[in-house]
Amino acid sequence: MITSPAFSGKRFAILGLARSGLAAAEALLASGAEVTAWDRQDVAREPLEGRARLVDPLEIDLTGYDGVVVSPGVPLNTHPISDHAAKFDVPVIGDIELFAMARADLPAHKVVGITGTNGKSTTTALLHHICDQAGLPTLMGGNIGIPIMAQEPLAEGGVYVLELSSYQIDLSQSLACDIAILLNITPDHLDRYDGFEAYAASKARLFEMMQPDGLALISGIDDASRSILSSLLESAGPEHVMDLGGITAIGQENWPALQGPHNRQNAIVAATAGAQLGIEDDVLEAALKSFSGLPHRMEFVCESAGVLFINDSKATNPASAAPALSAYPPNPVKRVHWIVGGLAKEDGIGECAEHLGNVKAAYTIGESGPRFAELLEGDVPVERCELLCEAVNRAVANAEAGDVVLLSPACASFDQFRDYERRGEHFRQIVGALTGNDACPDETSSHETNGKIEGSSAA
Ligand code: ADP
Repeated sequence: MITSPAFSGKRFAILGLARSGLAAAEALLASGAEVTAWDRQDVAREPLEGRARLVDPLEIDLTGYDGVVVSPGVPLNTHPISDHAAKFDVPVIGDIELFAMARADLPAHKVVGITGTNGKSTTTALLHHICDQAGLPTLMGGNIGIPIMAQEPLAEGGVYVLELSSYQIDLSQSLACDIAILLNITPDHLDRYDGFEAYAASKARLFEMMQPDGLALISGIDDASRSILSSLLESAGPEHVMDLGGITAIGQENWPALQGPHNRQNAIVAATAGAQLGIEDDVLEAALKSFSGLPHRMEFVCESAGVLFINDSKATNPASAAPALSAYPPNPVKRVHWIVGGLAKEDGIGECAEHLGNVKAAYTIGESGPRFAELLEGDVPVERCELLCEAVNRAVANAEAGDVVLLSPACASFDQFRDYERRGEHFRQIVGALTGNDACPDETSSHETNGKIEGSSAA
């Protein structure tokens, strides 16, 4: 775990003892801090019994505390902890800020922070893979993988690659990245912010906190990303900013897990960051080739009777589904059987509208299914399905060799599934059963639920 003398003798309160909260508590205790911790669930508090003061920070006087650590899942805009901590002038922070505070005592290293509405996980995993292939000590953390404070510190020369949601940026005041990356900014998670501008401003803070000699890589061509680019050019100066917006990649056909225009963008950004870290071109090229991709992001499930099955369950908004649709142009005829719908985050199909020319038929599912059907009818043939199983069944019945059955729902999953992972696993299962000529599995048995379950922390 990451410990630091910076925490010794300090006092922290921790609200929420899920993975990152518990890891923070352990790291602080091991560093000699005094810890007050709370979680509604008895079982979550158990590991700290006898070692931390187990009371709810909301119910105590916080005078003398150095910080209240909360998980990125806590909505700062509505949760009472924000006002309570402010009353005592105590900052509300996250585990990324603890990492930032511990950095001074870690062996010499670099931090690359990656944010954006879409593509964070892919780019983080890819840059981590690139560093690993180059033989650099490296780990990834933040919104991906094991909580950062629970990981072993890197040896000298290491590269910490951090995926940072806007919630995590909100909970940090001093994360000075050596390389800070912005992929794009499109409307998302607006329930947590006072409008789109506030959401964009949250992302902009990553660049305001950057090292004075740091480098910002901006690849979004949307208005919000461009506006961050212009203000950085003024505030940090052109030597600290690279505009990757107009750059095209050469060799993408050799990178099997990085297909589609969005992955081209992710690859350009990760390779540029790798080059800035001193990694040679041949190593970069080999790493792009050997990257295996992440589950549920345009994941190849199988090919059966010439039909390709792609699981892009992670596409939880139209901006992230659009690149998947665009990745399969007519060849020579339309070939995408698009499974779309779930819990919509916005009304409309957004950027997906530009790629309907690739869609042979749409199969609507979930709560927003009827609305998507209404929006799409007239442009493409629509089959109203409601359940994922039904959608895959009908798509398989209609698909011909050369076609693609694509789950890229443009919606959150919580209306029918626990999370996007369960939705993607369910898709894989159904595809497996259907292409193996098994009966379609019982739709309600394994993963689907009728109720809405808690949200994810991705932003
Ligand atoms: P995040 O961690 O930001 O949610 P992921 O890498 O998990 O991003 O990808 C989420 C979804 O967004 C996937 O459906 C993927 O196809 C799409 N996506 C990935 N990269 C980009 C990008 N650069 N621009 C737009 N959409 C993207």
